[in-house]
Amino acid sequence: MKQMDTKSLVNYIALKILGGSDYILDALEEYLVKGEGPASVAYKYQISKHQLRGYAQRIIEKSGSEGRARKIIPIIKQIASDIKPIIKKNEKDLYVCEICKVTVPKEDTEEHVRKYHKDILTATMKTMLERLEQYKKDKQTVILTSVS
Ligand SMILES: [Zn+2]
Repeated sequence: MKQMDTKSLVNYIALKILGGSDYILDALEEYLVKGEGPASVAYKYQISKHQLRGYAQRIIEKSGSEGRARKIIPIIKQIASDIKPIIKKNEKDLYVCEICKVTVPKEDTEEHVRKYHKDILTATMKTMLERLEQYKKDKQTVILTSVS
């Protein structure tokens, strides 16, 4: 079976959140984990069905299988719950970087984060990877305690 590419998965999610697509984990949980219809989930988050399926496909690829993607999404949602976007959509539907105070075209938000805020991206990924490690350790402890 294909291995999970944790680093690539965390990088993908961190970029999405920081770039302003912070609904991605909610949308994927509803679509992939809870099995809600793509049309209603896409409508709720104002994205296209095509985009939603694209996100799901990327996550499945990086997870190694659909089953693993379903398991990892709620865990990542938990560990990323306090991570906030640095690019946000304003009332005029423009994407603004809160650090540089500039407008960024919608399709360039992730590129902007990668190019100008690499330090934040790196720190966010580090936090997420550390929390994932901690989650794994805690889970092992629970299993060991329940066996003994
Ligand atoms: Zn910026």
